[in-house]
Amino acid sequence: MFIVKEIQTAAYLFASILFILSLGGLSSQESAKRGVVYGIIGMIVAIIATVLGQGVAGHIYIIVAIAIASVIGLLLARKVEMTAMPQLVAILHSFVGLAAVLVGFGSYLDPKSHELQGAAHTIHLVEVFVGIFIGAITFTGSIIAWGKLDGKVPSKPWSFKGLQTMNLLLLAACTVLGVLYCKAEGTDGMLYLGIMTVIASFIGVVLVMAIGGGDMPVVVSMLNSYSGWAAAAAGFMLGNDLLIVTGALVGSSGAILSMHMCHAMNRSFFSVIFANGAGSGSGGEKKAMEGEVTALNHEEVAALLKEAKSVVIVPGYGMAVAKAQYPIFDMVQTLRKANKKVRFAIHPVAGRLPGHMNVLLAEANVPYDIVLEMDEINEDMPETDVVMVIGANDVVNPGAQDDPASSIYGMPVIEAWKAEKVIIMKRSMSAGYSGEDNPLFYKPNSEMLYGDAKASVEKIMGFLKA
Ligand code: NDP
Repeated sequence: MFIVKEIQTAAYLFASILFILSLGGLSSQESAKRGVVYGIIGMIVAIIATVLGQGVAGHIYIIVAIAIASVIGLLLARKVEMTAMPQLVAILHSFVGLAAVLVGFGSYLDPKSHELQGAAHTIHLVEVFVGIFIGAITFTGSIIAWGKLDGKVPSKPWSFKGLQTMNLLLLAACTVLGVLYCKAEGTDGMLYLGIMTVIASFIGVVLVMAIGGGDMPVVVSMLNSYSGWAAAAAGFMLGNDLLIVTGALVGSSGAILSMHMCHAMNRSFFSVIFANGAGSGSGGEKKAMEGEVTALNHEEVAALLKEAKSVVIVPGYGMAVAKAQYPIFDMVQTLRKANKKVRFAIHPVAGRLPGHMNVLLAEANVPYDIVLEMDEINEDMPETDVVMVIGANDVVNPGAQDDPASSIYGMPVIEAWKAEKVIIMKRSMSAGYSGEDNPLFYKPNSEMLYGDAKASVEKIMGFLKA
């Protein structure tokens, strides 16, 4: 059974509107669930309209492939830990890149595409070339990002003098290959296409290898954007309008998110994406840690909280690892019942995914009105009695403000040290993702509370209730 072209176009338009509504919904926590539902419905409409479109054959194979992929997707989504979500997202981006490469080669080898004449043929060849180029960079770049986020590839930036020149030369080589490929007859350009794919794959590896530490959030959102452009390129190659619209939506929203992340980290967008020097640290000698590290026990922390009138909680990646958001919210409710002002301070790059902390807190039903962004809460720090830093590290590192040699120098941070008392809850003195030591731990108003965040919060709750 086929549907007529007009119905397919209407369905594509409807799906595009749903995708736009979905993106709009995802922009705030209150409407995020609705946004996801719009996205799911849009995707179902898109798949049905495409599969039933004219000229599509082998429906049985398509249905079997979709069924197998859906089962794998369901199992993966149910199994994956929230802390492993960034890696999953990165590897899914790589699939989009690979798909664009395969569509590109398929499209080039399709005899029908060589029936095109004149400008139409040249445009199609350029679409294929650019699509494979972006797809290959997305594919290998995302695999490296997956490795870095999963700890399989060192997160430290790997770079060398002349990297930029090498990348420019490789880009020039790809342009020359592109010209030769466009001039080739029939499918004779296959060799040029193949060499370009290898070069683009290499560029993807070095681009992401050169970025690391605190700049990884931008890489994740940038690869998200690349995957969108790769999908749009596949849409051009297949002549599928919906894929072009969807790819452009993902590509542009990913690029906007990357710029937003750069702004949040006070980084130049272009220097991050072209790996032009990791971080903004001067690379000189780092400040030595001054002061003494002191620690409290759970009972002492509970006593401090009982005394406090205002409390700010700064969650970080460790909260996700410990799954501490549920007991933290129990503790917040207990403190609020005792008439204390309790709020959360969220840094834009806390955790390992844009919005990671917001998702975890929403999962634990924390009301949105007590979850504040870094900019909203920093000015309240001097009037705060207790700041609880729970599994966070880089996002509260004062070195970002006063140590020019630090790789995160220049990144705005939550100024926890300005509060009356800071309690840092983590398991050891080890560094955060950026690998930088944290002078906050040595401040006279800071106290460490060692241990797993969830277990610690539960113990504090025991003393608060006693
Ligand atoms: P950090 O990675 O700086 O620090 C997390 C801390 O959590 C660690 O120091 C660790 O210390 C502690 N921790 C780990 N497990 C537990 C546990 N079970 N209980 C208690 N503490 C625990 O996290 P932040 O959120 O402060 O900063 C995020 C960093 O990740 C930034 O550098 C950011 O650039 C980067 N990043 C962010 C991405 C994003 O999109 N948000 C993507 C990729 C990277 P210990 O081992 O001693 O317990």
